[in-house]
Amino acid sequence: MLPTHKIVDTHTHICDAVFDADRDEVLEKAVEAGVGAIIALGENLDDAMRNIELAEGYPMIHPAAGLYPTILDLNQAEQMHAFIRSERSKLVAIGEVGLDFWVVKEASQKELQQEIFKGFISLSAELNLPLNIHSRSAGRHAVAMLLENGATRVQMHAFDGKASAALPAVEAGFFFSIPPSVVRSRQKQKLVKQLPLSCLLVETDSPVLGPDRQKRNEPANVTVSIQAIAELKNVSESEVIESVAENTHRLYGSINT
Ligand SMILES: [Zn+2]
Repeated sequence: MLPTHKIVDTHTHICDAVFDADRDEVLEKAVEAGVGAIIALGENLDDAMRNIELAEGYPMIHPAAGLYPTILDLNQAEQMHAFIRSERSKLVAIGEVGLDFWVVKEASQKELQQEIFKGFISLSAELNLPLNIHSRSAGRHAVAMLLENGATRVQMHAFDGKASAALPAVEAGFFFSIPPSVVRSRQKQKLVKQLPLSCLLVETDSPVLGPDRQKRNEPANVTVSIQAIAELKNVSESEVIESVAENTHRLYGSINT
């Protein structure tokens, strides 16, 4: 693949300690693979601060800040709101936030999760920051909440639902990011086949969701997603790179130029 540097890994946990020993090399490999920018997601306040710090050292890193959906703590949610407001100018997204009904199963806990999620949807509208959404075993619910609450700038990351659950989101102009684990997931392959190329982004979710479950995933593997999309949609890799770059630009502006 030609390194165009148009490729953006739109969901990475580059702040994870598993990259502390060789982050330079990992980012260099990504650049060699054609990656021009990385959106650095966080799960809590420490991650958010770390991502901002990393972005100061590596211009290709664009930080996001959010509270992982299994953290059911209104105090932490409030602190995160305050942090996002004060660091607004440095952030490209709110994430990751969303719903996780795989881990959270009890009704009152789900309600609390939805309340926290709703708060981040409102904040996204108020600050005009895109949402980078986690929705595990809750795709349909997350899409419904986003639509009900008027969200407009949305990336659904590693969506694990059916295409039929995704379609209302596609109609609303939301985007779906495809991780390298697409090569070993029938569900993700079906999703890629059924959704239009005009709504797809690529991501890695490094250090997880790699092509090989046993190995640490890294941003250079975003090319695996591109190859898989090209094969599944029967188009060339360069067409996928162009479309995905355009889609990324529509959601995030000029981070990849
Ligand atoms: Zn993630």
